[in-house]
Amino acid sequence: MRFAIPLFIVLLLLSAIVLTSGPGQARLGPFRVFGAFSSGDTAGTAATPTIQVPDTSLATQVPAPAPAPAFAAAPIGQRPYIPILMYHYVRAVDQAADPLGYGLSVTPNQFAAQVEWLRRSGYDTIQMSALAACIHGEGACPARAVALTFDDGYIDAYTAALPVLQEYGATATFYIVSGFVGQDAYMGWDEIRALRSAGMEIGAHSISHIDLTTLNHDENVDQIARSGAEIAAQIGAPVRSFCYPAGRFNAEIAAITRDVGYTNATTTIQEGSQDDLFALPRARIYGDMSQEGFQATVAAYLP
Ligand SMILES: [Zn+2]
Repeated sequence: MRFAIPLFIVLLLLSAIVLTSGPGQARLGPFRVFGAFSSGDTAGTAATPTIQVPDTSLATQVPAPAPAPAFAAAPIGQRPYIPILMYHYVRAVDQAADPLGYGLSVTPNQFAAQVEWLRRSGYDTIQMSALAACIHGEGACPARAVALTFDDGYIDAYTAALPVLQEYGATATFYIVSGFVGQDAYMGWDEIRALRSAGMEIGAHSISHIDLTTLNHDENVDQIARSGAEIAAQIGAPVRSFCYPAGRFNAEIAAITRDVGYTNATTTIQEGSQDDLFALPRARIYGDMSQEGFQATVAAYLP
């Protein structure tokens, strides 16, 4: 019996070491969720965790997603411009009845013609996290690729955009407003997980699509960090890409976005340099854009 107490203490110490260094760490906040999936992901290591939020622990229950489609790499040291195209809806809208909605929508046929032309013309498609890795010098850059991005998480991303992307072997990044998931006209988590399983990237677009420039620092941290954390937990994959709601941001908001663990953020700035990963411009694709107009838009950036 003389060893009973020391042995008990040793066991206590051992269990303390296991608890503080084992896989249980993945249960800490969102950026543990980000980090836990970093190996094998193109964007490299996640930032140091700085924010603590509740973890739903769903992250470990989802099967690994299919690998993203590969792209033809540019020679080492070369970084061709990668046009980032901005979409919202893929649906038919009556222009007279809903002019605003019409402008934000391309029809499924329009979208199919655009992706078909991109692929036939030798453009690869690239996800935003891979684009960020390229610009950051952490991953290969594509020789000739565009990034397709979809804002807001509307249901037609799953019902209309995904089948076209799959038909042509293309990939895209879908920005989800975490607080809108499952509401009327928006995807639920099942659809979002299906996009991810089909090899699409899921990014974050805040909790409530509020103009971030109207919020204080803590509110911005919440909108930016917690939306990504919830999405990461729901899809079981890191969330590395953010999109500012309505394109509204400033230097402080960009700094928060970087500091909480994202690798890139997109804006609604129509064109410009891709040197700042947290102010990436995007070319808006309009509902009334002709096929020729679409082709000219892409080719203007990357012939
Ligand atoms: Zn939006």
